[in-house]
Amino acid sequence: MPFSHDMVYSLATVVDLINTSPAAGGEEGLRSVEDLRAFVGRRVISDVEDLDSRDLSEVRELRDAFHEVFTAPDRDTAVSLLNTLLGRTRITPSLAEHDGFSLHVHYFAPGASLAEHLAADCGVALAHVLVEDERERLRTCAAPDCSHVFVDESRNRSRVYCDSRTCGNRMHVAAYRARRRA
Ligand SMILES: [Zn+2]
Ligand SMILES: [Zn+2]
Repeated sequence: MPFSHDMVYSLATVVDLINTSPAAGGEEGLRSVEDLRAFVGRRVISDVEDLDSRDLSEVRELRDAFHEVFTAPDRDTAVSLLNTLLGRTRITPSLAEHDGFSLHVHYFAPGASLAEHLAADCGVALAHVLVEDERERLRTCAAPDCSHVFVDESRNRSRVYCDSRTCGNRMHVAAYRARRRA
């Protein structure tokens, strides 16, 4: 992918966030502030103050907005949705090095809430995907009972399942069984 390591990292964060949504995963992955803290922990999101129920509802709302960008039917819709999102986000680029990550750019403004933080960093990463005309890499899993999103990082843009260890395998086994029955 023609993206820098911090862009790739932010894209993985937005994928993780969207996949906590009932619309993408079937189950609510952010049921509580505790779930939100776990998300912050596994994505190593820096500069996060104490989280409360307001953060939870803001992040859930943002998650839906990102999901719409991800699954927009065409480029212009994606651009317009993302511009709306970025338009209401304070953005202040700065260089940072923390938690063992090499030098990278933060886009969130000082004192940003968690939702603002994610809107800035993940929003800018998605903007780069659109600028590089790589929108087709933003995918939804092709398995019939799965709606997870993922970023296809394969060279020939051929990935169709969210996670080859689960959905990919499951589909291969199903295809194998179908062939044996035939
Ligand atoms: Zn950082
Ligand atoms: Zn899947």
